[in-house]
Amino acid sequence: MNDDCLKNKNQRVEKNKRTFCGLGTVNQIEIDSDNTLAMDLAISRIAQLELLLSPFLPQSDIYRINEAAGLKPTKIKKETMKLLKESVGLSNKFMGTFDINVRPLVELWKIKKGNRAIPTQNQIKQARELVNVSDLILDETNQTVFLKRAGQALDLGGIAKGYAADEAKRVLEGKGITSALINLGGNIVALGKNTEKEQWKIGIQNPLKPTGIHFGVLHVNDCTVVTSGSNEQFFIKDGRRYHHIINPKTGEPAESGLLSVTVVAQSSLLADALATAMFVAGLEAGYELAKLYEIEAIFVTEGADVIVTNGLQNRFEWINP
Ligand code: ADP
Ligand code: MG
Repeated sequence: MNDDCLKNKNQRVEKNKRTFCGLGTVNQIEIDSDNTLAMDLAISRIAQLELLLSPFLPQSDIYRINEAAGLKPTKIKKETMKLLKESVGLSNKFMGTFDINVRPLVELWKIKKGNRAIPTQNQIKQARELVNVSDLILDETNQTVFLKRAGQALDLGGIAKGYAADEAKRVLEGKGITSALINLGGNIVALGKNTEKEQWKIGIQNPLKPTGIHFGVLHVNDCTVVTSGSNEQFFIKDGRRYHHIINPKTGEPAESGLLSVTVVAQSSLLADALATAMFVAGLEAGYELAKLYEIEAIFVTEGADVIVTNGLQNRFEWINP
């Protein structure tokens, strides 16, 4: 795994805690024992998923599907098919807020690459027309996937870390680990309780402050905590915050009145997709989605209001008021 992302970080090497690069971000896994095999297996599982799902690696299924858009169906692995089926199911249920076909718009805005230029309305319109989940043809008999039109492309950025976190947990549990904290670039899975047999404390990022400044803490065990926010990757121009979560309907960075959404749930895949979708949907529709999927959430609005769903009231603690 390429560990360039850690170049400027002070890394402590500990047997039961590892920091590593992958899925385009910095990850950390902490376990309650020095079971290096379990740790190695969990980390290589994440690397394996990156090789399968990254839109940047030429050998990945997603890269090959994107390259063949408008040309021909691409043979893919069973696991990719399963994940794509699930992602399409979610794209269909989330009322146009979440779409794994969003890549033409992600490419246009290039916010991840530090671009600060705003595309023209015409460019946005053209890219938006390419984003259509019904143009993705999944053929399970032949195990192929086809994007109907040239220029269309998949982007699992809104779901891959969640899925990988679920998988890392599964691998650790398979090796007998009962206590772990998996953090894949902010997608957190808390397995069991911590070494002091207490609930894990998960800091919730203040979206108006630099990374690492929290406004609250969640006390949790055996669940996932996933945040989507406009503070991750963004630039501000003429008072507007241009960030990396796109509203597929407008083709522009979502302006839903929210700064961040944190989801607490069982499945990290669902939580990852939901956090992105709820961020795009805004407070009211996002709250409805939380009820529908029976998950808990914390919303931070542009007016700095914090809304915590009922199920989290006893688990949420304010800090730095
Ligand atoms: P992060 O990756 O920062 O944790 P998210 O889980 O919200 O945040 O995912 C954002 C990423 O998902 C973007 O970088 C992009 O690759 C992709 N994406 C952006 N907008 C959408 C959307 N509306 N639906 C699905 N994926 C999206
Ligand atoms: Mg997400």
